[in-house]
Amino acid sequence: MIKPDGVHRGLVGDVIKRFEQRGYKLVGIKVLVPSRELAAKHYAEHDGKPFFPKLVDFLSSGAVVAMVFEGKDIVRTGRTMVGATNPLASSPGTLRGDYGIDVGRNVIHGSDSVESAMREIALWFKADELADYTPAWIYE
Ligand code: UDP
Repeated sequence: MIKPDGVHRGLVGDVIKRFEQRGYKLVGIKVLVPSRELAAKHYAEHDGKPFFPKLVDFLSSGAVVAMVFEGKDIVRTGRTMVGATNPLASSPGTLRGDYGIDVGRNVIHGSDSVESAMREIALWFKADELADYTPAWIYE
């Protein structure tokens, strides 16, 4: 998910491009301004932590782009492409390492396990909003 700072800064195209060029298949995408309730559910594991209220405020403060990508080892590789939680600890070449400085404005969210990906996909998408297809545009 591209967070409000990433959308506001015009980074949507670059994020999608990186996943596409790596070989991952985009099967779901939507733009929405999440409600506080949806933002709180998304980050439920952090409920009670000092940064939680600001995190929920921020995520619901503007448009986000929620996406589902498919492909071999997508969760692990996706996290590598996203970078460390704190952008200052993220290597150049990662999204956060290329575009971020502050932990509360780290541009993008990426699911940290297959289990959390399944939970998050169900939270953000209905089943019929995910496309089931085989890429077939290179060969006839
Ligand atoms: N966060 C924050 N302050 C902190 C830790 C986390 O603002 O001290 C925010 C940050 O934007 C992060 C999000 O909370 O992306 C969720 O934290 P998590 O530890 O799950 O990191 P992530 O999975 O996003 O790398």
